[in-house]
Amino acid sequence: GKKAYQFMLRTKNPSGIVPNRLYLVMDELADKYGIGTLRLTTRQTFQLHGVLKVDLKTVMSSIIRNLGSTLGACGDVNRNVLAPAAPYKTKEYMNAQELASKLASLLAPQAGAYYDIWVDGEKVTQDEPEDVTIARNDNSHGTNFENSPEPIYGVQFLPRKFKIAVTVPGDNSVDVLTNDIGIVVISDEQGEVEGYNLYVGGGMGRTHRNEATFPRLADQLGYVSKDDILYVVKAIVATQRDYGRRDDRRMSRMKYVVEEWGIEKFRTVVEQYFGKKIESFKEIVPFEFQSYLGWHKQGDGLLFYGLHVENGRIKGEAKKALREVIEEYNLNVRITPNQNMILCDIRPSWRPKIAKRLAAVGMVSPRFVDPLNVTAMACPALPLCPLAIAEAERGAPDILKSIRKLFDKVGLNSTESLVVRITGCPNGCARPYMAELGLVGDGPNSYQIWLGGAPNQTRLAESFMERVKLDKLESVLEPLLYMWRTERREDESFGDFSFRQGFGALKSYIENYTGP
Ligand code: SF4
Repeated sequence: GKKAYQFMLRTKNPSGIVPNRLYLVMDELADKYGIGTLRLTTRQTFQLHGVLKVDLKTVMSSIIRNLGSTLGACGDVNRNVLAPAAPYKTKEYMNAQELASKLASLLAPQAGAYYDIWVDGEKVTQDEPEDVTIARNDNSHGTNFENSPEPIYGVQFLPRKFKIAVTVPGDNSVDVLTNDIGIVVISDEQGEVEGYNLYVGGGMGRTHRNEATFPRLADQLGYVSKDDILYVVKAIVATQRDYGRRDDRRMSRMKYVVEEWGIEKFRTVVEQYFGKKIESFKEIVPFEFQSYLGWHKQGDGLLFYGLHVENGRIKGEAKKALREVIEEYNLNVRITPNQNMILCDIRPSWRPKIAKRLAAVGMVSPRFVDPLNVTAMACPALPLCPLAIAEAERGAPDILKSIRKLFDKVGLNSTESLVVRITGCPNGCARPYMAELGLVGDGPNSYQIWLGGAPNQTRLAESFMERVKLDKLESVLEPLLYMWRTERREDESFGDFSFRQGFGALKSYIENYTGP
């Protein structure tokens, strides 16, 4: 008989924006053609697991015809563009989200094959803004392939996937420094865009026992004024397209070009494609992690409700209740880069009923969720990801529980927390190298421990120990947590503490530890 090939399908949702109709369709497709659950990802998209090959066309065409897309969600192209998911109706936030959608459009594959295959050539795309079309076709500095259906990508596309995040000063809900390009919208006092700060060369993926691969924090490239943003992004993409390595996929992300050249040379090459100088980086306020959980005002008289979704997995009774609420009140939805979900456009008078319906299925206000769980992330890993060598999503609840028990044991109170991120392999989809405690699968039931990341995701963690079996994890963590509690400075986070102490001091503390 025919083999039942199964697929994982990922959507593309710039800024995590999910129109009401698309949510309802995704919810239905998960039941009819998937494994009955929806997975929210760290790049603000949906993953549908377990779609059979025979059903692919039905599923794809339903998504495309209902305001969704999967175009450029996989492959060596620009992936989903992140931006803060909060539906604040301020100019600042709306400008960031609008730019994310323009960049998604600018860098979307242009050839029509996608629509030929999935919707028989029907034209279902939205019209794109004129400035995007003009910028894409502009070839004044040699960024484009002439007469190619793919003016930016050509026939070879990019050496590897490419990631962009946009944000506003102070808001690091998007993990901005982990992207190939990170953009911060700089606004004037009226909230109008003045220009953009740019970071380049971030990326998480690495390969075990290959020292040439490493996670990397993006560098400051500089600042461009308002009208230049699409052009400078094209110039950066063209630089990676032409100079990124194509001989070794493990070394082909743009971060290795930036690392090898240094930021000065990288900037000079980008400027050649851009045709102008890049100005110096503008000073901005420090970043903070934002979760947007709980109830907030949108600024237009309506409310939004940020819901914690354990590991981004929507299933069972919670899935049913969410569907009911989203359908009944005609709510739009947003997916956050922390795999959580925001219900938008809620009238204040609806709030009690919605809160009650969701609380009944365990979707409670974040103040009733363990703060460890609120900031934790785990990737899908086993059994859903072919690259996984250890558990992540399935193991996370128990790991977090055991960390909470250790907190209790060493005398840390129940409101204290740290950022835990777990992945099933070094590819690092849940960005473990930015965590205060990163666990990276390096064998069955075995993890590398990464320490020293900052609570606002602005400092890279480093590999502290390797091949730590799950049942040995507590014997490493207990002394570290006790040391943190007893020797930290006022309000010092676990990440800042372990970074300040240095790994030598932490290791000798573990060796000499005799109990709290
Ligand atoms: Fe799969 Fe590795 Fe990504 Fe986890 S980190 S989803 S195991 S590729």
